[in-house]
Amino acid sequence: MDSKTRDDIDVKYKWDLTRLYASDEDWEKEYQSISERAKAFRDREDTLTSKEVVLDTFREFTDIILRFNYLASYATLRQSEDASVARYRAMEDRISSLASQIAASTAFMVPELLALPEGTLETYMADPDFADHDRTIRGMIRIKPHSLPKTEEYLVAMAGDVFSVPSQTAELLRSLDLKLGSVRNEKGERVPLTDASFVLFLESEDRRVRRTAFRRMMNGYAAMGNTFAALYGGVVKEGRFSHMVRHYDSARAESMDGDDVPELVYDNLIAAVHEGIGTLGAYLELRRKKIGVPHLHMYDLYYGNEKGFEIHPDIEEAFALFLEAVAPLGEDYVRDASRALTERWIDVYENKGKRSGAYSLGSAYGVTPYVMLNHKNNYDGLSTLCHEMGHAMHSFYSNAAQPYPKADYSIFVAEVASTTNEILLNEYLRKKYRDDRAAQRALIGNLLEHFRTTVFRQTMFAEFEHQAHQLADNGESLTAELLSETYLELVKTYYGKACTVDACVASEWMRIPHFYTPFYVYKYATSFCASIFLARNILSGDPEKVASYRRFLTLGDSLPPIEELRIAGVDLSTPEPIAQALDYFAELVYEYQTLLNEDE
Ligand SMILES: [Zn+2]
Repeated sequence: MDSKTRDDIDVKYKWDLTRLYASDEDWEKEYQSISERAKAFRDREDTLTSKEVVLDTFREFTDIILRFNYLASYATLRQSEDASVARYRAMEDRISSLASQIAASTAFMVPELLALPEGTLETYMADPDFADHDRTIRGMIRIKPHSLPKTEEYLVAMAGDVFSVPSQTAELLRSLDLKLGSVRNEKGERVPLTDASFVLFLESEDRRVRRTAFRRMMNGYAAMGNTFAALYGGVVKEGRFSHMVRHYDSARAESMDGDDVPELVYDNLIAAVHEGIGTLGAYLELRRKKIGVPHLHMYDLYYGNEKGFEIHPDIEEAFALFLEAVAPLGEDYVRDASRALTERWIDVYENKGKRSGAYSLGSAYGVTPYVMLNHKNNYDGLSTLCHEMGHAMHSFYSNAAQPYPKADYSIFVAEVASTTNEILLNEYLRKKYRDDRAAQRALIGNLLEHFRTTVFRQTMFAEFEHQAHQLADNGESLTAELLSETYLELVKTYYGKACTVDACVASEWMRIPHFYTPFYVYKYATSFCASIFLARNILSGDPEKVASYRRFLTLGDSLPPIEELRIAGVDLSTPEPIAQALDYFAELVYEYQTLLNEDE
């Protein structure tokens, strides 16, 4: 299928970037000006001694970053339009050099502020003149006991390059050097085994294809097991080095302190998800019956997914459905969101050279958010639109309500608004197509798989990395045998009651790139559960619950993420919301079972 060139696309389906700059020349002028200001900023070194100077320095710093973000947003958006345009590629390169320049000329600021007499930062934080910057200052106070003298910070920063070697090497090994051979497909043709073909093999009707592909994939990794163990061990050792140098109890404590999230949230998640393993088993038993095998194996898990929901909305129709689905959020939400299409916040269709996938960009403060799509007229296209508009409206309301330094919401809450919209859409369509059994099966089946892969699978990953780091802290050597044994035990815990756990799955941990960004995956599970909880609140029709959620959308990063979610109506410092999300999963399993039984 050859796609259109960008010029062939109707202008009303392309985003309007003139809100950022009237022309590329204006971008260039602004670039020079910010570069000059960054250079001049360095003159402030060793001057941060009075409140007035500190305040003025915060203001100048904030304004430089704000304007830098306009420049960077424009470069990203332009580059997404068509990666083959050399001018835009050059813009991206220049943005990264400007970023390094700004980082270098402002690097003195934090250490100098941390060296102020005891109690000074606390005084500033309480001072109304610093109200826009209180989160920034709170962040500094939090890291203060964990920061090092200047020369030691310098050494740690120098070591950063070396510490990135394990993850880079693992990535090269996975994507280039690892040879997995080929698998005969249903027609008997040999097809190379890659990450992309693996997905298709696992969906094959032919069980032999699924089994062969799965074993070959796991065994291919197992053959490099010692190497993968050494590489992953390197990441764990880095975590150990860092937490010991910075006086944290563990790598997890350091990582979660960075997110400003208490460790209890992690432990609650694991404990609550364990309570739901029985329901996961009931779901898997339904799948076993559906595909008609005597025992479900690990290689059967992706076979028998419901076909996609048959719906073919073009962008106007998809947008109308989105607005109907989010109607429970209030008339003004619908009105504000409806601006996105007419005011051209969205770049709708695919064109030659356009970046793949979809994203929302809300970092250009005071300018509307932008949404990149590659819209297809199907359910996935509709669902993606709802997801990205969730991000966009979160940015829209936070940017409107918060001063710039507190507008950009944190990673921990970032996926909540987007996923909540997806769930509102699912619920809305299930009501709208209440008498259409195929639609019901597709929509419920889709949500159940989302649950399995986001809540159960990611929590199992979270548990694995927590155990691996603990083993290292206890002085164990992270051999391939130990890591694989640890992983296999977890798979048995989660899947063992409902599935035959093939021993070769022990190597699966080697395939997961996210383990090289420690303590990240738990956020997928917590935010999905929070979204389920909040979507149910919203659909309860209680105006106070809707108002709480709407207030959350305005909070940006003005409070610690757990506090923001509490205001939204979900308290992740207790296991209760996870348990309630799992109750909802159980309801869905029951509904699915009823549908399957009736269709038999
Ligand atoms: Zn997202």
